[in-house]
Amino acid sequence: MSENHTLSIAVIGSGPAGYYAAEALSKASSDERPVEVDVIDQLPTPFGLIRAGVAPDHQSIKNVAKRYEKTAMQDNVRFLGNVSIGKDVQIEELMTIYDAVILAIGASASRKLNIDGADKQGVIGSAEFVGWYNSHPHHAELKPKLNIDSAVIIGNGNVAVDVCRILAKTTEEMAETDLAHYAGKTIHATPIETIWMFGRRGPMEAKFTPKELSELGELKQCVTITKPEQLPDDIPADTLPKEQGVKKKILGHLKEFSTPRPAKIQTLNIEFYASPVSVIGNERVEGIRMERTRVEDGRTLGTGHFFDVPCQLIIPCIGYRTVPIEGVPFDTDAGHFRNTDGHVRDNLYVTGWARRGPSGTIGTNRPDAQEVAARVIEEIKPKANNARQKIDDLLQKRHISHVSFRDWQKIDAAELAAAKYTAPREKFATIDTMLKTISEN
Ligand SMILES: Cc1cc2nc3c(=O)[nH]c(=O)nc-3n(C[C@H](O)[C@H](O)[C@H](O)COP(=O)(O)OP(=O)(O)OC[C@H]3O[C@@H](n4cnc5c(N)ncnc54)[C@H](O)[C@@H]3O)c2cc1C
Repeated sequence: MSENHTLSIAVIGSGPAGYYAAEALSKASSDERPVEVDVIDQLPTPFGLIRAGVAPDHQSIKNVAKRYEKTAMQDNVRFLGNVSIGKDVQIEELMTIYDAVILAIGASASRKLNIDGADKQGVIGSAEFVGWYNSHPHHAELKPKLNIDSAVIIGNGNVAVDVCRILAKTTEEMAETDLAHYAGKTIHATPIETIWMFGRRGPMEAKFTPKELSELGELKQCVTITKPEQLPDDIPADTLPKEQGVKKKILGHLKEFSTPRPAKIQTLNIEFYASPVSVIGNERVEGIRMERTRVEDGRTLGTGHFFDVPCQLIIPCIGYRTVPIEGVPFDTDAGHFRNTDGHVRDNLYVTGWARRGPSGTIGTNRPDAQEVAARVIEEIKPKANNARQKIDDLLQKRHISHVSFRDWQKIDAAELAAAKYTAPREKFATIDTMLKTISEN
């Protein structure tokens, strides 16, 4: 297909942004102006955080992968898995081989908790912890110590809610999920009695959404508690009309959690107006010092009132950063690639979390990727010759065995076949197992 008039694009990353970009590019292809797309991912498995981020007990959300699958099966779209850009192949090489390169590598590093003692054992970033329970090959060996009685989760977004829920749910509640089996064994044996979720700001500034929050009120062995004195009587008068419905629902759930309910084996305390100051302990976490805050004119201010919370595990769920790639300008403060409306430099573009940081839902990546794909189609003229042959030759020369979409389907089928009891699948957590499955099937 790679004739002179074919536009050859490499999309790096097979998460939502990558596949929405591939979909838009594939659809833009015509007889007059053919387009071919190679979607390249560091893992042998596609779909980014749909597979390794979205909570295992939220299976219906993962159905969006069916749409990406449809794109992946198009004649003019290929999947090249198990190829890490920046390691196996450099960005400059791709920019020479293809007409254009679109980075869609997401934001896979946890934003660090910038306080004294944050490097102690027992402080685990959300990317690592979530990756661990979701069988991400980079985090499957994490082995968090959960033989503890108290855990602190920092942050008031849906990732913090996910982590609390996964820690609190029973084996039975997780039966129909694809929670990593090794993670299930550790989590369901934990004697954790108390989980704290701390937010720096107030309940009306929290980022979690009503549906996710409401699930915390339905846990079998864990009761969720809020402090009535931290909750306003009503939503603030200056709430934007489009946000009023959501804020009312959030406040409703938080108020419900503040009413007396029977105790359960575990307690999840959701506390607002509390900012982490330092981690207490020697080598390992023994607690966390917090400072009470107040919010004034939209700013969070310390009050000088401190309190200590004993705990042996701290999971900061305070955001993510893109991992820089050599040769790609990076905005260190923002934590993503420098770009102007998705354009980085020359024939290099960026979309998704790597473009705008970790915000929005899966669907937010769609218009983002469509916009970048449209720019590429408009701005780039086809010049590359035999791009696919060239990348295949390069990978072969470097002994990098890339994984095709057909190969992924073999992994997929084997994972589905390995599912135990009511679980939808048994995810493989090592690249070796994945490659072995491909070669044996
Ligand atoms: C814990 C968690 C739960 C979430 N739950 C929900 C939810 O329930 N609903 C919702 O709407 N949104 C949810 N989101 C948000 C959603 O997952 C993101 O909006 C979306 O995944 C971002 O898409 P992306 O393509 O930019 O990045 P990603 O999904 O992260 O995809 C990036 C891809 O790039 C690949 N990659 C990275 N580096 C390289 C490299 N150097 N070379 C080659 N490939 C590379 C990765 O392997 C990955 O496949 C959640 C996010 C998190 C973190």
